[in-house]
Amino acid sequence: ATPTAIMVGTGLGARRGVLFKNATALESAARIDTVVLDKTGTLTKGEPEVTDVLVGDALTQTELLRLVSGVERESEHPLAGAIVAYAVDQGVVPAATSDFQNVPGHGAVADVDGHRVVVGNRKLMAQQGIDVGPWLARRDELAASGRTAVLIGLDGRGAGVIALADAVRETSEQAIRELHELGAEVVMLSGDNQATADRIAGQLGIDTVIAEVLPGDKAAKVAELQATGKKVAMVGDGVNDAPALAQADLGIAIGAGTDVAIETADLVLMRSDPLDVPIALRVGRGTLRKMR
Ligand code: ADP
Ligand code: MG
Repeated sequence: ATPTAIMVGTGLGARRGVLFKNATALESAARIDTVVLDKTGTLTKGEPEVTDVLVGDALTQTELLRLVSGVERESEHPLAGAIVAYAVDQGVVPAATSDFQNVPGHGAVADVDGHRVVVGNRKLMAQQGIDVGPWLARRDELAASGRTAVLIGLDGRGAGVIALADAVRETSEQAIRELHELGAEVVMLSGDNQATADRIAGQLGIDTVIAEVLPGDKAAKVAELQATGKKVAMVGDGVNDAPALAQADLGIAIGAGTDVAIETADLVLMRSDPLDVPIALRVGRGTLRKMR
């Protein structure tokens, strides 16, 4: 690697806000054949908004929102923030809660006015022994439209579903097209429901979807791809993504992402634009060519 080629490559990237942290990052970029992208906050804007609140006969919508926002007020998850914001917007005052318990990658549980309230995915409902059977068809419908559907349990029974939508970034589709033109395989990695992830991947033309991945398992999924001989770039924004960014041959952080992701990555996309991923690979390849 000639120092001049590396300086030129680093400079080319920097002008576009594509910050290679060192020469090794630039060289790795040249060799990538597989790009794994986190869904939430990377391909999507990471700004979920409540679109639907479905509630059974046991409660009114206001009462459901009061209970659920009480629980979610204690959580730092982006879905929780969106649910609280929606409830407050509807004039609901979140209930006081006790015994709050965050279940990473699944949801949250707390006591509210003597009731046990559970908010999260189907695995959490199963763990808590909540029968959500009657709600699953509605949840699947919402998920099939690309929305994230959160189940609500109240005292051991399914009490409703809250759906949230997170808009895809304007340039995600083009970014994936360009990655394909560069010959890369594109994989989406998500903690979200399989149907939700499949729908969004379909919209974007993504080849492979790995969904319902627990926060601690993202790095292992990257390692599995590497074990088949692939040279993997991982693009992410969240605290959850940091170990996967470290595991990848090239860790790429979204500039608007969390500090841990930015610190761990080999490369930072200051404009938070997925289109800068194919640009980074091209800069890497161009640099390598000049080195020969
Ligand atoms: P992602 O990788 O999409 O950011 P997470 O791994 O954080 O997702 O969470 C996976 C799933 O667990 C979410 O899609 C949601 O169904 C559920 N979940 C996690 N935390 C919460 C919460 N605080 N409230 C509701 N649902 C949650
Ligand atoms: Mg994310």
